Amino acid sequence: MNIAIVGSGYVGLVAAACMAEIGHQVICVDNDEQKVRALRDGECIIHEEFLPELLKRHGGTNLRFTTDLPAAVRDSSVVFIAVGTPPCETGEADLSVLETVCHDIAANVDRYKVVVVKSTVPVGTNDWVRRILIRYGASQKQFCVTSNPEFLREGTAVTDFLYPDRIIIGSDCGRSRMIMEQLYEPLTTGAYAQSEGAIPIPDEAPLPAQLITTHTRSAEMIKHASNAFLAMKVSFINAVANICEVAGADVSEVCDGMGADHRIGNKFLKPGIGYGGSCFPKDLMALHAVAREYGTGFHLLEEVMRINEDQRKFFLRKVRSALWTLKGKRLAVLGLAFKGGTDDIRESPAIAMVRLLLKEKCQIVAYDPAAMERTRQEFDDDSLTFAESAYEAARGADAMLILTDWEEFSILDFDRLKRELRHPIIVDGRNMYSLEEMERNGFTYVSVGRPDTVATANDAAIKERKTEAA
Ligand code: NAD
Repeated sequence: MNIAIVGSGYVGLVAAACMAEIGHQVICVDNDEQKVRALRDGECIIHEEFLPELLKRHGGTNLRFTTDLPAAVRDSSVVFIAVGTPPCETGEADLSVLETVCHDIAANVDRYKVVVVKSTVPVGTNDWVRRILIRYGASQKQFCVTSNPEFLREGTAVTDFLYPDRIIIGSDCGRSRMIMEQLYEPLTTGAYAQSEGAIPIPDEAPLPAQLITTHTRSAEMIKHASNAFLAMKVSFINAVANICEVAGADVSEVCDGMGADHRIGNKFLKPGIGYGGSCFPKDLMALHAVAREYGTGFHLLEEVMRINEDQRKFFLRKVRSALWTLKGKRLAVLGLAFKGGTDDIRESPAIAMVRLLLKEKCQIVAYDPAAMERTRQEFDDDSLTFAESAYEAARGADAMLILTDWEEFSILDFDRLKRELRHPIIVDGRNMYSLEEMERNGFTYVSVGRPDTVATANDAAIKERKTEAA
């Protein structure tokens, strides 16, 4: 099929590359000329596993990039909208970019097209899109609006798209539903997975993908409710972790015990410095605003957000209590992205922590495998510098903080770290290590919801002597 995807960001670009991968002719549109130029030059503009391979495989052939939205719409029978829907100051989703795009699409609906809303939007938005398209000149009979929310996770976006838990198609029109079913057929029959050169299937991926059709409004709610539920799970376990800390329980053991119950599951039972990213915070606020607008209220979400905010303050308190005073302390910060596997720093709890620590007049040397360039663009502060590795960041630091769950931070060389750090202190906001391991290796280790381990006087004294000698 000929497909246009409007918006070449984290979702649009991955969707475009994957749609090309399963055999469609895709034209990806963006109004950011620099981005389009880079994509045309074969640059992969975001850090995402398997994306460079797909761009190389299909770029210039069945995957093209343009700023010309009208031409892309005219050449396509399915038009996906994947532009941003950021929060307004009051928490509602800002749909102004979506409206602008609808305006441009409407003028170019010259034969039947399915207009697919992939952006995350409040319930009722697809009806608005339909009305706006008609208002700006599209003929009612020549298009159908369909909701197809996206559930990919940054870091595993390509495999999430190609081997999804589910594909949701929200449509109140049979013709568009049929077209959408055809579009995803390589995934729902399992044919793509069997094809030569297919991107490898992750363990536990359901095969073939199940496609669930719903009414449009239900599809919109599925997306918001799913994200709100996952965020609630994170805040729930963080609140449990806080009790564990005071009561002397170990939240890791609690998570293992709870997660073994299939009704609960162990995913997202991850205590730490809280959720972030471009989706959970804004989608929670948007759903909360929807509930307010419809007069039903959803106070549970307020508590979820409050716990998440508090988690950062609690973590700052931990850093302070590990170091006594913060002013002038040199800290190695591991992780800036909002989670491991991505370069995305939007609403990153790690970035929020860096800001709080800079306010406390700490000297920060940060390392992140993918997000340093984006962070550099955000900060203009001499107290924040960057290192090329975790060990370089640790050199001469009073303590090391782990703020993002990158896999490489879970396999650090402890002997090397101890040689680099001024004091063997790690404050871990992602619970990457077991207490036994840290105790055995002689670290003062402060994590979330678990007892601290304390470096023995002997370890600390040896370190002190070595530092002085150096
Ligand atoms: P993004 O900011 O990375 O990408 C949006 C893109 O749209 C940008 O490249 C921007 O230049 C482009 N754009 C803006 N105005 C435009 C216009 N008038 N014409 C053409 N292009 C335009 O955003 P994203 O993270 O890809 O998210 C897009 C949507 O998908 C949001 O609604 C988000 O909530 C949802 N979503 C995101 C994720 C995720 O993990 N990032 C997952 C699921 C759903």
